[in-house]
Amino acid sequence: MSFLTISHLEKSFGPNRVVKDFNLTVDQGEFISLLGPSGCGKTTVLRMVAGFESPSAGQITIDGADVVRLRPNQRNIGMVFQAYALFPNLTVAQNVGFGLKVKGAPTKEIAARVEEMLSLIGLSELGNRYPFQLSGGQQQRVALARALAPKPQVLLLDEPLSALDAKVRVSLRNEIRAIQRELGITTIFVTHDQEEALSMSDRVVVMHQGIADQVGTPFEIYNRPATRFVAGFVGTLNTLEAKVLDPAIGRVDVAGTEILLHRALTGSNATLGLRPEMVSLGQGAHDTGLQGTITDVDFLGSVIRLRADVGGQSIAFDTFNTTQSSPPRIGEKVVLGLNATDLLVIGD
Ligand code: ATP
Repeated sequence: MSFLTISHLEKSFGPNRVVKDFNLTVDQGEFISLLGPSGCGKTTVLRMVAGFESPSAGQITIDGADVVRLRPNQRNIGMVFQAYALFPNLTVAQNVGFGLKVKGAPTKEIAARVEEMLSLIGLSELGNRYPFQLSGGQQQRVALARALAPKPQVLLLDEPLSALDAKVRVSLRNEIRAIQRELGITTIFVTHDQEEALSMSDRVVVMHQGIADQVGTPFEIYNRPATRFVAGFVGTLNTLEAKVLDPAIGRVDVAGTEILLHRALTGSNATLGLRPEMVSLGQGAHDTGLQGTITDVDFLGSVIRLRADVGGQSIAFDTFNTTQSSPPRIGEKVVLGLNATDLLVIGD
């Protein structure tokens, strides 16, 4: 049973329609990411769920109750923002207990809950510090504890990791997910970082120009992108133009090599997508070999990213670094091995 539902949600600022017919159902305890480029409307969706922005049209229900007309403080939602937004004049413990104090909870109950929350985020020793005495990662953990302390029904996270450096981001990513799982709290997480979305989420909503282009598990989003935008935005993707020879069975020609896709196509041309990791140097056991000429060699450490020209089309692919053999040289003629089943047919 879905716990949070968003139906036909719309938002316009003046003539600018920034959220268009947005629909989503979230199960209790699910972790959902809204992923998309800057300006696609993901923060606006989150702010409408929180109650900071009112929809131009549409419905939002939490646990069966319509919340659209409720003020933010009536919605039982916890929120964490990109900028830490802690109260600078309050200690860590006072920050965490703030929501409960506003609700008029008894002092003893607040103290117990603050202790529980500080232990959950691993900062039990730092309750008496002030925010300026904490690192960025610690401040975001306190912000998370503050959001969770009043036991909200839904947790909303708006790019909470963006301001942190790379190492802290990755460890906090795991920590947030572990805490979310432990509490089983329904969560919506806004990010423009695909790695964050893919690694943390049960399901990802890829947004583009106010529309949810695709909703799916990380596996589905990456391996079966529904639109050209999703295919291009999530992961690295080579696009190959193919001539359709037999649309009924998907026989195509890519740079002079015939490939059988075993799926029906329409039209006389098709655009195919190919992930770099699906291509090998040399045909090996693959069913297809494309003739190419190496144009770029980037040594990245564990892998070498190569680029080859295949009949005027450029294909990026990776090969593992080994001490046994040296990478190909620019200008070298190579065969690119791939399997027809790994080619994606890219829609509109
Ligand atoms: P970012 O990652 O940059 O925050 P986003 O996907 O979260 O991007 P939103 O912040 O939801 O995007 O903004 C979507 C669009 O709505 C943008 O074009 C933005 O300029 C516009 N917008 C957002 N808030 C307002 C507002 N209060 N008044 C007018 N336009 C707004």
